Amino acid sequence: AAAAKAATLSGPGRTSDGEPVKLLANIGTAADVPAVLAAGAEGVGLFRTEFLYLGSAEEPAFEDQVRVYRAVFEAFPEGSRIVVRTLDAGADKPLPFVRLGQEPNPALGERGLRAFRAFDGRNEAVLRTQLLAIREASRGVAADVWVMAPMVDGTPEAEWFCELAETCGLDVAGGRVGIMVETPSSALTAGPILAGRTGFASIGTNDLTQYTMAADRMLGALGTLQDAWHPAVLQLIGATGAAGEAAGKPVGVCGEAAADPLLACVLVGLGVRSLSMAPSAIAEVRDALAARTLARCGAMAVRASAAATAREAREAAAEE
Ligand code: PEP
Ligand code: MG
Repeated sequence: AAAAKAATLSGPGRTSDGEPVKLLANIGTAADVPAVLAAGAEGVGLFRTEFLYLGSAEEPAFEDQVRVYRAVFEAFPEGSRIVVRTLDAGADKPLPFVRLGQEPNPALGERGLRAFRAFDGRNEAVLRTQLLAIREASRGVAADVWVMAPMVDGTPEAEWFCELAETCGLDVAGGRVGIMVETPSSALTAGPILAGRTGFASIGTNDLTQYTMAADRMLGALGTLQDAWHPAVLQLIGATGAAGEAAGKPVGVCGEAAADPLLACVLVGLGVRSLSMAPSAIAEVRDALAARTLARCGAMAVRASAAATAREAREAAAEE
């Protein structure tokens, strides 16, 4: 048998017939950046800023945040996109400087963007400081800096975030402020969300799967349910992709699903046009896309979405 061909380590993502699909990386700190550049990523699709401050008793100072964000932004050349996620706080990812009540079921509690609307609005100042720091850090850098909020459950939250981001000087009109689609509610109302001021959507398939399957992603006993191949999850991604196409606004995926080469092709078939993943997964996903036309990805998506189970969806997609 022929030796396996080495995966391609550079070049933009595209299908064999030339449809561009941005290949981006997930990072937590500036230390992750060298691996991203080595993988030939077109930028960062998910900068998980809460990783910088997990367990911090004190709110990080504005100047400290500017310095840390700027170190990441400056590492990327002109033409790169860097999508910064605002702090994804919650009982599962504790940021002690964000005040929250006791919650019996943290996954369904005041987490993500909700945490900053909680506590009589007093947490809002923390988010405002972060948005101002991102704005300041992005001044004059070559990369294109985008900002998104985690765990947005619908249009009112999305509009609230856009308004706050605009007052902090971020480019809402230019489409650089968006949301994560991580709940069935935001996937099913992506049409109205994207018809509003929200500039883009990035689907967090880890949480979207957890909330679609009603299965805690932290619970090992339910691990087999945490599978983004489930047709219910694929249909929600398809609804979001279709809403993006209708509104002319970009839809990406930044959960684990983007790192599975076969599933990545299905996602593109569902209307997704950027994929963000661990740097180590990029080369194989690049090659999987380069081996298929957009129409073929679309046919895979139709078959997988119509399946009954995650396993059958995977098998249906693989029948090429
Ligand atoms: C997700 O939920 O898919 C996601 C990308 O965010 P996180 O894994 O950080 O919750
Ligand atoms: Mg998430």
